[in-house]
Amino acid sequence: MLGAYFTNYTATLDYDVVSYSSTTLNTLASAGSGSFVVPGSFQQTFVQSKILSNGVDANGTAADGEINWNFGQNWGLTDNVAANEFDFKKVAVHELLHSFGFASYTQSDGAGLTGQLPGTADTWAIFDQFLTDASGNRLISNAGIFNSSQVATLTGGSGSLLFSGANAKAANGGASVNLYAPAIYADGSSTSHLDDDTLAFADLIMTSSTYAGLQTRTLSGVELGILKDIGYTNISAVPEPSMAWLMLGGLFVVLGAARRRNIL
Ligand SMILES: [Zn+2]
Repeated sequence: MLGAYFTNYTATLDYDVVSYSSTTLNTLASAGSGSFVVPGSFQQTFVQSKILSNGVDANGTAADGEINWNFGQNWGLTDNVAANEFDFKKVAVHELLHSFGFASYTQSDGAGLTGQLPGTADTWAIFDQFLTDASGNRLISNAGIFNSSQVATLTGGSGSLLFSGANAKAANGGASVNLYAPAIYADGSSTSHLDDDTLAFADLIMTSSTYAGLQTRTLSGVELGILKDIGYTNISAVPEPSMAWLMLGGLFVVLGAARRRNIL
């Protein structure tokens, strides 16, 4: 399903998949992919570089990415997802995209991958090049230095932290794209997702949480724009079934699906 967007690339991706079971955590899954540590730079993930280079493996025999999956949750594994089940396929697309580079290395204090504080160069994700405040000022300079006056932007709430890549903006009516920046920094959720609290984004794949029931598995124009900005310039727009999914998703909501949102 996700590969249909990447038909112009050829790579075999290897993942370590860790299964666990918790009924108390409200986490559904998490995922990532490592990168080289080069202070003062913006790095592709190993998965990302393997795709963009059509198969050149930057990290050798080690797995390219890792996915952690909570099988203690109630999952709908097929295309028939009950109102009290979480949509396995939607969440799988979401997690894989994190490993593809749809993720920030920013930490709550403005440090990057290796914990260097604002003012000192650190290693960042390609995604981080495009982080701005509401006025369009970049949080991290080309030299890989986080601007110490911008730490508060990370927890400024809806509309404070934006993704300002050209393709994402073009798909968003010319406006920068709201990223998730709740007032209390949420490790693993803040900065690396579309803003859950922006109405137009609430049901998209790359927000930080999801409702139960069948969800869209189709990437929006904004999500495709972000993927282009982080390097996937030959991504394909995908075929039809999207509308059918959206309609079914809407139907379940009308029928009273649980509106609990779980974290992904
Ligand atoms: Zn996520």
